[in-house]
Amino acid sequence: MAGFHVRSVLVTGSNRGIGLELIKHFIGKPNPPEVIFATCRDPEGAQAQELKKLASKHPNVMILQLEATDSASIKSAAKKAEARLGGTGLNLLINNAGVMLPSTLESATPEDMLSVYNTNIVGPLLVTQAFLPLLKKAAQGSNQKGMSCSKAAIVNISTVLGSIEKTPETFSFVPVVSYRCSKAALNMLTKCQSMGYKQDGILCTALHPGWVKTELGNFQPNVQADLTVDESVSGLMKVICDLSEKHHGILMSWEGNTLPW
Ligand code: NDP
Repeated sequence: MAGFHVRSVLVTGSNRGIGLELIKHFIGKPNPPEVIFATCRDPEGAQAQELKKLASKHPNVMILQLEATDSASIKSAAKKAEARLGGTGLNLLINNAGVMLPSTLESATPEDMLSVYNTNIVGPLLVTQAFLPLLKKAAQGSNQKGMSCSKAAIVNISTVLGSIEKTPETFSFVPVVSYRCSKAALNMLTKCQSMGYKQDGILCTALHPGWVKTELGNFQPNVQADLTVDESVSGLMKVICDLSEKHHGILMSWEGNTLPW
């Protein structure tokens, strides 16, 4: 972790929950990134006020409008990011935006399946495609050996609920079929990205943040998630700092353990 320095990072879905906490933790690092792109769907909306306050106090935070299901919005964000980076690349892309809807084998509809799939898997695919030239630029411009988030990396925020092997442990109390299928697909996308971008020196890893007290995590009335956002993101930050080629193309927990696909 010593010497770890990300010059630029982008986090999707950063107006609340885990995304907002990631922005706060990057700002609070002893050597914070020079540019922190905090993307959200509606920068002027009520749900973005805390992020806007942060950005007004920290000139290294730039808010970008980004709707993960809209390629025009993603391309426009990538153009603005490129201009701000002024010829340098993007070190770290964190695909965090995600949704979970109640969904059982009986209740799932084509509409639910496709809308969750669109945000949780088509979104990270399109966002990565749009920012890939900037990630490649960061990798090419780096004199660091091996892979790391301070060189060039894609971190996909996934979940253990997308792990096929782990499904028997959790299915009965959290069925969420559409969410599980979308995150299993995100795990596959991470593996494909790790194969496709290896020669570019871009590290690709999927991370499970734990069960976290956010709007998404507190989906069951009267049942509290395990972790505060600060506990989860403190763990994720440590994992992110320590990522290297041995973590390329795998799924890991917020505590740094490898999870089965
Ligand atoms: P929240 O519901 O608190 O936040 C979700 C974020 O994603 C919001 O910023 C939301 O923006 C954004 N978002 C949703 N849809 C889109 C979209 N189409 N385009 C752009 N942004 C979008 O969730 P969490 O912080 O808990 O979740 C973050 C990630 O962590 C997700 O990928 C989730 O699957 C994963 N995760 C969470 C767990 C938990 O226990 N909380 C457990 C395992 C994984 P808006 O405000 O506009 O809706």
